[in-house]
Amino acid sequence: MLNPVAWFHAPKINVICKEYEREESMLVNAHAIAERLVTKGKELFDAPVDIVQFTSDEEANRLLNNLNEYPHAFVLACVMDRQMKAELAWLIPYRFATKLGSFKFSTLESLTIQDIRVLMTEPAHLHRFPEKMSKVFFEAISTIRNRYGGNAAQIWANRPSSAKVVYEFLQFRGAGPKIATMAANILARELKVPFSDYFSIDISVDIHVRRVLGRLGLVNSEASIEEIIYRVRSLHPEFPGLMDFPAWEIGRNWCKPKQPLCKECYMRDLCHYTNNS
Ligand code: SF4
Repeated sequence: MLNPVAWFHAPKINVICKEYEREESMLVNAHAIAERLVTKGKELFDAPVDIVQFTSDEEANRLLNNLNEYPHAFVLACVMDRQMKAELAWLIPYRFATKLGSFKFSTLESLTIQDIRVLMTEPAHLHRFPEKMSKVFFEAISTIRNRYGGNAAQIWANRPSSAKVVYEFLQFRGAGPKIATMAANILARELKVPFSDYFSIDISVDIHVRRVLGRLGLVNSEASIEEIIYRVRSLHPEFPGLMDFPAWEIGRNWCKPKQPLCKECYMRDLCHYTNNS
């Protein structure tokens, strides 16, 4: 005889089981996706030091890579990297250097806010928001002088923890977690500055990273920045930022907003979007 209680529960249990299985398989897939992104990230992290191509101008790149003589150039470029194309923002220290004939810290600290406004605006604007960013530039120089005795390399000296480096970048006017994390990530990953740990180097969520992680199925398309950061942390807590460059590169090269080039993408066998559309 049919047990009425079993009859009542059976369909629901089936649904719950199916849901559980689906969650389990998504989780397995998430770990496989994370592992592949981390492997790609590690390849870059372990690659020998090379001059980082921040811009298409070789002289500007030399200035930005020279952390021994001009550590402040890297810091100032980081704080300029807002609300405009990154490549143009990273050119700003070099544009100042060519106008001033020097990028020594002693030259920069002698500038008034008015000098900086002129350098930022004449003959052409160096930033989309020259007034606001002149203040940011001026105050960054003051922070480097007052907090680090004029030597910005103090920010990453003596194998600091990743949290300390991110915290130090947050001391600059206008630098939020995205810039601070990006700066720490570039120092560790590209410029090979040694840290004592990498726990606090998160993924920098931009439009490419958001689209790629959403399509891969790691986060939903409505996920907040915090959700994305914590999701990536949960998958690789010892160095979440390792997934940053691979995700960004996939977005830039293959995962186009309208017509993703899935056949060419190395994530296609694991990707939720391409396997469900
Ligand atoms: S397989 Fe396609 S949708 Fe998935 S990440 Fe790659 S390009 Fe984007």
